[in-house]
Amino acid sequence: MNNKNFVKNLSNKNPTKDITADDIKYKIPKITSNKKVSVRITDKVVFNENNLPIIAGPNGVESRELIFHVAKFLKKKGVKILRGHAYKPLTFPYRSKQYLETKNEGMNWLDEVKKHTGMAIVTEVTEIRYLDRICQTADIIQIGSRNMQNLELLKECALTKKPIILKRHFGASIRDLLGASEHILLEGNNKLILCERGISAPHTHRETSRFILDIQAITALKEIINYPVISDPSHASFWAPWVPPLVYASIAAGCDGLIIEVHPKPEESKVDPLQPLNYKKFSEVINISKKISKIFKRKII
Ligand code: PEP
Ligand code: MN
Repeated sequence: MNNKNFVKNLSNKNPTKDITADDIKYKIPKITSNKKVSVRITDKVVFNENNLPIIAGPNGVESRELIFHVAKFLKKKGVKILRGHAYKPLTFPYRSKQYLETKNEGMNWLDEVKKHTGMAIVTEVTEIRYLDRICQTADIIQIGSRNMQNLELLKECALTKKPIILKRHFGASIRDLLGASEHILLEGNNKLILCERGISAPHTHRETSRFILDIQAITALKEIINYPVISDPSHASFWAPWVPPLVYASIAAGCDGLIIEVHPKPEESKVDPLQPLNYKKFSEVINISKKISKIFKRKII
């Protein structure tokens, strides 16, 4: 490599982590457009400046019994969007003997529970080959943090015209997240919801906490885009006792929705058992969230 050129190019390009006026004009014009976007999921569920939808459920669709149990509880609490993954990326390849992705069977359970409760379904797509099956049931497709820049996957998801939750990768800048968003919008799908779910940081303040909820990302995003930005304190903190205060802080920071993991017996959750809230705690969080969101003229739905 010609070293002299390398140095010259660097200074010419004015490298920056911040979003520039040129970025907005040439690289991310759609996601930064001034038009207010509300994302309609069903007649009852719309992400907009007045609502604050709660997305709740277990980590994985472990069994038919579990997903029905959680869904019935959540429905009673007024939650309208159920989450649960039948396809799951895991950080390490050795899945526990008792835990397998439930895949097609799990999708069939989500189908049943959707018909039974009328709840909207959020589930994760890990690969293009699962997309057709997922689209038969899902009301919102989730693109997980690990796939934030899987551009082929983003494109195919966009082409389905389904609403999409795009999770921020734990190492990605806001600029990268907005770049990934632009790929979706470019395909003509503007039913886009962005999600802050925690970033890697040198200090996470607790041995089991792998990430830090970047509350500032919510405020920064809300400053520059008009698409819904939601927060996932469960995946960020990895630690149930920290989830309630992070939910409240996210509401205060202006989030447009929340993802909260719930399990009837968190310690028995087959993945990440430290992070889901039990039913009692979840009920308390919803009650307090309703009060807090009122201050900000938002309605928990
Ligand atoms: C999840 O929502 O279960 C999940 C795996 O999220 P993330 O991609 O943020 O880790
Ligand atoms: Mn998870």
